[in-house]
Amino acid sequence: MKSFIVFLLGTSCAAFSQSTILAIKCGRLIDGRSEKPIINAVILVENDRIKDVDRSAKIPESAEIIDLSQSTVLPGLIDCHTHLLLHGGSYDDQILKESQAYRTILGTVAARRTLEAGFTTIRDVETEGAMYADAALRDAINKGVIPGPRIFASTRSLSITGGYAPYGYAIDVPYGSQLADGVDGVTKAVREQIQFGADWIKIYGDSRYRHRVADSLVGSATFNDDELKAIVYEAEKVGVHVCAHCYTSEAAKRALRAGVKSIEHGLYLDDETFRLMKQKGAYWVPTLIAYVHWTDDSTNSPDVQKMVEYSVKRHKETFARGLMAGVKIAFGSDYYDPHGGGTKELGLMVDYGMPPMKVIQSATSVASQLLGWESKIGTIERGKLADIIAVDGDPLENIRTLEEVRFVMKGGEVCKNEIR
Ligand SMILES: [Zn+2]
Repeated sequence: MKSFIVFLLGTSCAAFSQSTILAIKCGRLIDGRSEKPIINAVILVENDRIKDVDRSAKIPESAEIIDLSQSTVLPGLIDCHTHLLLHGGSYDDQILKESQAYRTILGTVAARRTLEAGFTTIRDVETEGAMYADAALRDAINKGVIPGPRIFASTRSLSITGGYAPYGYAIDVPYGSQLADGVDGVTKAVREQIQFGADWIKIYGDSRYRHRVADSLVGSATFNDDELKAIVYEAEKVGVHVCAHCYTSEAAKRALRAGVKSIEHGLYLDDETFRLMKQKGAYWVPTLIAYVHWTDDSTNSPDVQKMVEYSVKRHKETFARGLMAGVKIAFGSDYYDPHGGGTKELGLMVDYGMPPMKVIQSATSVASQLLGWESKIGTIERGKLADIIAVDGDPLENIRTLEEVRFVMKGGEVCKNEIR
C-alpha cells in the first residue's frame, strides 16, 4: 500500500492522508442490507466515511486503489456480547489473584485480536471485576493510542447480594459484578457506573442455576420488579439502555416488562417470552458458541458436563423456536478463549437453521440497530463510517470463511491487510 501517510505510534491501523480518496474494488459485496451480493462494485472512501458505493465500478483518476476484486467484502462485524477483560482458565483466580492493571494489559491484547478477527465494533458486557477498565480501553482506542474495535462499555454490571461469583468463600471477596440491593441501592449503582463511563447497563436477571429435575433448569431470580424498573428508569433517563443476562423465561419476562433492550443468552426461553420480546421491540443475543465451547472444558466435573451438554441441546431447540417466532436476533459470541474466536458463532447460527445472509445481517445491520448506531455503522452505504472487512471465498456458500478475515478497515484506516 503506497499511500500510508500517517502511522500513529503504537497502533496497527494506518490512516491515509486527508485528501486521498480510496477506491476499494470489491469482487463480491455483501453490504449488510441487500438480500443479494453486488458483483464488482467499488466503494469510495474519504477520510473516515464511505463517500459512495458505485455499482458501475467507475474509479476516479486521483483515487488510491485497494484491490479486493478476488474477495468478498462486507461491513465490519459487530459483536454485541464480549468480555475483553476475561480470559480462559480459572475465573476465581482472575478476580482474586490478578491485578486490575494486569487484566487491563491483557485487555489491550484482546482488543487488538478482536479487531483483527473482523470485529470493528463491540458491546463489551461487563469487565467481570476489572471495574472500569473497559471504559479505559474504549477511550485509549478512540484516541488512537492502541488498536481495537469501537467499544460500547457496560463497566461493572449489576447483580444482587449473593447473586454473582466468586461463590463459596466464607468471607466477603471482590465479586465479578457490582452487587446492589433495593431501589436506592440499584439507583446509586447505575448512577455510579454511568459517572465512570458506562454506555450500557448490564444486569443479571437470574443466577445460581440448578436443575430441579434433569430436564428443567431453575435460575434463582435476582432483582425484584421495583428494582428492575428503577434500574431501567435511571439508565434510560440519560439515554443509556439496559441488557439483561437471563437463562430462564421467568427472569426474561420480568426484565422485558421493566424495559430492557436485549436479553442475553436466553437458553431456556419459551414462546410466550418471544412474543413479549417482539411486542417490546427488544432483541435476543443468544451467544450459542459460549456453551458449545464450555462442553470442551476438561476441568468440568461429570455433573457440570452433563448440565452443559443438556443446556446446549436446549439452546439449539430454543434458537429454532426464536427463528420461527421472528424475534430480532443480534449477534453476540460471549467468546474469549481465545479472543478473536467470536466469529465461530456465525457458523453455529447457520448450523442451527439461520440462513447465511440473515446471520451476516445479524452481525452487522441488526447489531447496529440494537446499539442505536444504525445511521453510522452496520452497512456499507454512503455516509456511513468506513468499517469494511474482506474474506476469501463466499461466506454465503461457506459462512466459516468469516473465521479467516483477511482485510480490516475501521473508520477509513487499514488495520489488517493480508490481501495485497
Ligand atoms: Zn457474557
